[in-house]
Amino acid sequence: MFQSLSDRLSGVLDKLTRRGALTESDVVEAMREVRRALLEADVALDVVKDFTEKVKAKAVGAEVLRSVTPGQMVVKIVNDELVAMLGSDAQPIDLHAAPPVGILMVGLQGSGKTTTTAKIAYRLTNRDRKKVLMASLDTRRPAAQEQLRVLGEQTSVATLPIVAGQTPLQIARRAEDAAKLGGFDVIIYDTAGRVTVDEELMDEVRDVKAAIHPHETLLVADSLTGQDAVNTAKAFDGRIGVTGIVLTRADGDGRGGAALSMRAVTGKPIKLIGVGEKWDALEDFHPGRIASRILG
Ligand code: GDP
Repeated sequence: MFQSLSDRLSGVLDKLTRRGALTESDVVEAMREVRRALLEADVALDVVKDFTEKVKAKAVGAEVLRSVTPGQMVVKIVNDELVAMLGSDAQPIDLHAAPPVGILMVGLQGSGKTTTTAKIAYRLTNRDRKKVLMASLDTRRPAAQEQLRVLGEQTSVATLPIVAGQTPLQIARRAEDAAKLGGFDVIIYDTAGRVTVDEELMDEVRDVKAAIHPHETLLVADSLTGQDAVNTAKAFDGRIGVTGIVLTRADGDGRGGAALSMRAVTGKPIKLIGVGEKWDALEDFHPGRIASRILG
């Protein structure tokens, strides 16, 4: 992820640091190149503008330009602004609530929602030693509940037994009862997705959310879809409210535009990124580390 952006930015910033003295126009020219590199990485235009303006405003100050190492100071400003744009601090899944803590997974069909449900369950079970129950509320796709059952078997995580003919709400209630009875710490609810954002999907998810009051509502979005992923997140957040984002297929995304724009556009943190098809291919999103990776 971010390879071409990283190469481009390193090129621009290396040029600045190799120079001894810097003028305002050197910085302005460098920011023009940074802007081009970010746009090529498919970062949202407003985010790019805002970013380069902020860097420019801080970098052309007399203190920076007259310092002994102006180039390095500009690099530090770029780094700090990048971290701020990505959300500053890592935001792990929050489990601080009375058990069973509900995590509602929402998103478009094919975004990786069911896989991510299993990955999170796998991580909470094996790393955090939580007792996790997974429940599929997807009554639209006949195979969806069965798919989750199979994933539960593969990851050795409990799934709610399938009862034919129940509505998503009935399944959710049954999951809650089962989790309380069984002493589970966490319930992860997988929901139905659609190919596009539509009213019916939003209404259904909103009703489920209103009924179960999940502690976390995670929007799963496909990194490869770039700005569409950002727009999807915005639509879901506007209609049902999300607490965070999981960006999947980061392993195949050479540009990283969704990851870079998501926080600034939606105001919601990327909590996790999916980096492969295996159960453990899930990473925390650390703005500081990502910025370091981008700037080499
Ligand atoms: P859903 O329709 O949103 O539930 O999507 P699925 O969970 O069924 O995922 C669709 C496909 O994406 C599956 O083949 C997954 O293995 C794959 N997938 C999910 N997350 C990732 C990821 O982070 N990286 C890669 N490479 N593939 C993923």
